[in-house]
Amino acid sequence: MLWKEHLKWGLVSVTITLILIIINELFDFITIPWVFKFWVFETKELTWWIFPIAFGVGAYSSLLPDIDIETSKAYGFTMLMFIGLIAYYLLIVELTWPIIIILVIMVIMMGLKHRGITHSILAGLIISLFFMWVFASILPGITCLVGYCTHLLCDWVQQ
Ligand SMILES: [Zn+2]
Repeated sequence: MLWKEHLKWGLVSVTITLILIIINELFDFITIPWVFKFWVFETKELTWWIFPIAFGVGAYSSLLPDIDIETSKAYGFTMLMFIGLIAYYLLIVELTWPIIIILVIMVIMMGLKHRGITHSILAGLIISLFFMWVFASILPGITCLVGYCTHLLCDWVQQ
């Protein structure tokens, strides 16, 4: 399946998920802990900023399983982001350990076989937990998992 198709279905499922979460928050059906908490605004309990971020994370995650193809959008975008992050840690923050971790991930990325480990729900779960930790909110974790699983479902249906 082409990346545009994956992105389209990813955006559909992530949008529906976010609408359901907003409705839930407005009418207080189920309490989801720290949905709105976002590390940049840690002093504020409520922030809607997390929504565009969660949306972006979901869109990105709907392409992410195909990171195992070197010509894919996910691969190119992630590599670009990693290079940007390395420059940031090297020149601005001057921290060595994140650079080492990024380089290790880059090497692993280059060795991935298509439709291997990245085409599994387990990989989606691990990456979701990572996004939850980065943004200190459950919301990007949810949209990541939804986007990721939508990709797996599309691949499975297309077979
Ligand atoms: Zn795929």
